[in-house]
Amino acid sequence: MPSQRDDCLFCDIVRAGAYVNKAKGFVAINDINPQAKVHLLIIPERHVDTFRDVSEFPAKESKRMLDFVAETAREVGLTDYRVVVNVGPSAGQSVFHLHWHVLGGHEMSERLPAGAATAEADL
Ligand code: AMP
Ligand code: ZN
Repeated sequence: MPSQRDDCLFCDIVRAGAYVNKAKGFVAINDINPQAKVHLLIIPERHVDTFRDVSEFPAKESKRMLDFVAETAREVGLTDYRVVVNVGPSAGQSVFHLHWHVLGGHEMSERLPAGAATAEADL
């Protein structure tokens, strides 16, 4: 398994093994506090603090990560959805292990940040 941290919530989740979807190097889980009807988190096994450090991923792994985001959305039945990465605390990042939010399952017409757009959604 790529580099992990002992003190990281998402490293723990990767090790725990309860996933919506899994591929080599990546897992998808349901967000514990969903902001849309479908709210998944795509988590790489490799511990990287934020998207700012995405260059720490080998090029092939970055490509596979993006493929896994799209594949997971497709597998849960989403065609239209929003992909969000919060980068840094003032942009809303609260867990410092890179992850991608996939939000969908209802009309998301507002061109707003995920939290603002989904606050009005009828969940
Ligand atoms: P962010 O605020 O962008 O760092 O996203 C962190 C996300 O992790 C939030 O949407 C939380 O609801 C979610 N979260 C925190 N703890 C857990 C957990 N134990 N299982 C699933 N999702 C979690
Ligand atoms: Zn981690």
